Amino acid sequence: MAGNTPPSPDPDTVYTSDHRYYASPWYAGAWQEMIPFGCTRAPYYPRDTSCPRARPGKHHGIDMFMPCGTRIRSAVKGRVVQPNVGPAYGRYPLKIRSGRFDYVIGHARRLLVRPGERVRPGQVVARSGKLAAPDGCHLHFEKRPAGAGYLSAVDPESALRRTEVDF
Ligand SMILES: [Zn+2]
Repeated sequence: MAGNTPPSPDPDTVYTSDHRYYASPWYAGAWQEMIPFGCTRAPYYPRDTSCPRARPGKHHGIDMFMPCGTRIRSAVKGRVVQPNVGPAYGRYPLKIRSGRFDYVIGHARRLLVRPGERVRPGQVVARSGKLAAPDGCHLHFEKRPAGAGYLSAVDPESALRRTEVDF
């Protein structure tokens, strides 16, 4: 179907060969990936000794391009906790704890919930932004064991629950 294709990221900020569009219960619309989880040649990350030379940095989440202001939702029932993350996530980091895991959202320009609040699936919790992002507006989505630091982040693919969308 030839519909109206959504905006795409600047090609210079894309470090994946997957150019499909994905919807997710974590955000409105359907968008393309910029940087996948794991070892990457994207230049923004410190060298990780577990990564090969060609992809020397490690990205601890999945970056999905989306225009600034896109609605970010919680896809889980959980509770907002103090983010306690570094400045790389921007001025308004968000951490939602659900069961044994924390879900961290980075680069938001605005949060709609506060630590201590409960969230339910489908609730709009933030607006996407580019704060502390060197490569424009996107959602940085990360999954960690509850209370753990970013070095313990796990592949958030299954939690992101992406479904491909054709335009
Ligand atoms: Zn990221």
